Amino acid sequence: MSRTKPLFGRVAILGIGLIGSSIARAIKRKHLAGHVAGFDRNKAALKAAAPLGFADSLTHSASRAVKDADLVILATPVGAFGALAKAIAPHLKPGAIVSDVGSVKGAVIADVTPFMPKGVHFIPAHPIAGTERSGPEAGFAELFDGRWCILTPLPGTDKRAVKALTTFWEELGSRVDTMDAKHHDLVLAVTSHVPHLIAYNIVGTADDLSSVTEREVIKYSAGGFRDFTRIAASDPTMWRDVFLNNKDAVLEVLGRFSEDLHALQRHIRWGNGEALFDLFTRTRAIRREIVDAGQDTAVVNFGRTPGANGAARKRVSKAAPRSSRARRRR
Ligand code: NAP
Repeated sequence: MSRTKPLFGRVAILGIGLIGSSIARAIKRKHLAGHVAGFDRNKAALKAAAPLGFADSLTHSASRAVKDADLVILATPVGAFGALAKAIAPHLKPGAIVSDVGSVKGAVIADVTPFMPKGVHFIPAHPIAGTERSGPEAGFAELFDGRWCILTPLPGTDKRAVKALTTFWEELGSRVDTMDAKHHDLVLAVTSHVPHLIAYNIVGTADDLSSVTEREVIKYSAGGFRDFTRIAASDPTMWRDVFLNNKDAVLEVLGRFSEDLHALQRHIRWGNGEALFDLFTRTRAIRREIVDAGQDTAVVNFGRTPGANGAARKRVSKAAPRSSRARRRR
């Protein structure tokens, strides 16, 4: 239901890609702001966004976008947050809320907090929603419906500001959880960052295996590889920044992962079918729990329709992996 009175007068979104433009669209859907100002450094993105109508103003100047804004959301790759915070700091309205959507929280807090003027409320946030696509055309208003958004407010943050941001994300369609940044980074290393790394790695390995031809990799991809390629098509800049900024938690989880992988290797080598069967039974139950929790659907072949290859091809992001056989061989 649309609101009669918007939650915020002016919302500035810095970075109008998949996440930023989805927030803008969801704001418009529920009339949560009097004015949505979009900023991006990418001129092509600004040009593409204009006819889409999710922003009331679009600019190439971050300081202009944040002027008089009650809520500012950093939505570029996380590696850019520090410089962006420094650039906008002198132009922030006293009492404004500054938030973000970055996939890591500890490094973002360290990068942004030093620049926040007194009287401005910085409240980090991370919507657990996304796709492998990028850019303003990839966004959609329903992206956050039923998904979690994690807030990681610092101790002593103004409670009314946290409440206002919580209400904002709930109105965007999300469920909101609060936790500290360190815990967030560990949880996300397990549920998102390391799975992406595994996908990038297996797709790279397949691409490098010179005894398997490129045509075979594509032709027989439905055997499991295809699902990894979807994840491995995610934006390279965003994911580079995630790994550079969540080093500790990712390395900790990777250590555990490697140990478990070695155990599996032993089970296969020594023919320990019972151990393999037990693990696969446990993991199947986890999948069922995710579906039961409404975080995915049980529909067979989720997200694909027969004969939709053309559409699927169009959906591939600018980051789609190209064959690198010519570029590099192991
Ligand atoms: P995206 O679609 O690639 O859009 C990012 C936009 O920010 C691009 O237009 C990019 O321009 C621009 N940008 C990059 N560096 C900039 C800078 N220094 N100053 C101004 N603009 C800059 O990315 P996204 O998927 O929306 O991700 C944005 C943020 O959301 C990231 O912090 C990510 O961690 C977080 N997030 C992503 C997902 C997901 O699934 N994608 C989910 C949750 C949270 P260029 O094209 O010129 O680089």
